[in-house]
Amino acid sequence: NLKSRFAPSPTGYLHLGNARTALFAWLAARSMNGTFILRLEDTDQQRSPDIYEKALLEDLQWFGIDWDEGPDRGGDHGPYRQMERLALYDAYYAQLQMTGQAYPCYCSADDLAAERAVQRSAGKAPRYGGRCRYLSAGARAAREAAGMRPTLRFHIPDQGTLSVPDLVWGERHYALADLGDFVIRRSDGSPAFFFANAIDDALMGVNLVLRGEDHLTNTPRQILILQALGLPVPDYGHLPLLLGADGQPLSKRYGAVSLRDLRGTGYLAPAVLNYLARLGHHYSATAFLDSAALAQGFALTQISKAPGHFDAVQLQHWQHEAVQSLDDAAAWNWLAPHLQDKVPRGQEIPFVAAVRANIVLPADALDWAERCFATPAMDAEAAAAITGVGPEFWAAAQTTLQVADGDYRLWTKALQQASGQRGKSLFMPLRAALTGRTHGPELAALLPLIGEERALTRLHAAAQ
Ligand code: GLU
Repeated sequence: NLKSRFAPSPTGYLHLGNARTALFAWLAARSMNGTFILRLEDTDQQRSPDIYEKALLEDLQWFGIDWDEGPDRGGDHGPYRQMERLALYDAYYAQLQMTGQAYPCYCSADDLAAERAVQRSAGKAPRYGGRCRYLSAGARAAREAAGMRPTLRFHIPDQGTLSVPDLVWGERHYALADLGDFVIRRSDGSPAFFFANAIDDALMGVNLVLRGEDHLTNTPRQILILQALGLPVPDYGHLPLLLGADGQPLSKRYGAVSLRDLRGTGYLAPAVLNYLARLGHHYSATAFLDSAALAQGFALTQISKAPGHFDAVQLQHWQHEAVQSLDDAAAWNWLAPHLQDKVPRGQEIPFVAAVRANIVLPADALDWAERCFATPAMDAEAAAAITGVGPEFWAAAQTTLQVADGDYRLWTKALQQASGQRGKSLFMPLRAALTGRTHGPELAALLPLIGEERALTRLHAAAQ
């Protein structure tokens, strides 16, 4: 039974890079009828205020990601907040010390910096030389008595290589000697990130870890820890970075692009799902898919090694698809909070039906609401289209509209006869005068929204 997880550190709003990681891990679980866990890695307490935990859960829920076990709903492998798990790690530290696979290290930050400086000047890669490895029991006791607080280091074998399989990158090989004895518990007693992370995965039964490429170099150390403890090693797959259009890592350059920002702007969750699911994963279907279909089409073998580039145009494409997939009532519910009461009561559904095909974001709908129910801003093309026909055209437009009693077909037919204009040279000036733009939704659908009175005022103004 496949079990995957998302293990965010709640130190800020969920940005698109992490949202994609969550999505892939979730799609993997759902595609294989597996279990999906949410675990909060909140050991960086200063940077993890409660608001971020709450926001994270909300954002994932909005996104359509659900979890079978997590901090809010519990499960058989809790607790699901790392801060509540600290005591669990003690037994594993003790086991590693007992079997000689970990040892206390009393080197100070200055000692370590000096060691690294020597190694660098000799042209070597800096790593811990093992000074505290073989301290006698007496030497340790003396340091403890002097009040020194040790870190705990993992004892790496001096020889051998470790091969690390990766679902995305294939097998990679590491010379153990190059890794150096690394710290698994800090001197304040807190666990190193990759230690707690690996132990938690093992204890929670996680057998598939999909996470960002930035964790690739943690993996050999995590595998060594798990092997030393006789704990199961999950399959790892590291997702290629997400880059901005400028090639810089998304999380930094586009730090502001959070799921929350997109939602606030009016992006629909299914649009973001379709966009992110295809960013670094190949789907043969090019059509808009719901989350069940996205899961069904997901395969670990289809994850790409190439970095993904954030592409606002693609995102808007999926947003447009998502808007078209809503029915009118759902579209109205989505738009209403953004429309500042600009749409009169009773006109909601006809308005949505008229403008939907021309809308990507709620700001577009707000613009059309103003064009229908308030005063349209005139763009330059529209102004030119209006002056392209003479005053007699506008006079005829007003009288025929009144005679037709606001009926679009009757009106345009009568105006065609009265003015001699037809096709584009008839409709373009009308559209320009009525909406302030030269393209947009069907004029026949807009006219009833604009209403005869406002239409007459605009036609009158066009004659000036
Ligand atoms: N807390 C880590 C992060 O947010 C988790 C890494 C992992 O998924 O293993 O980057």
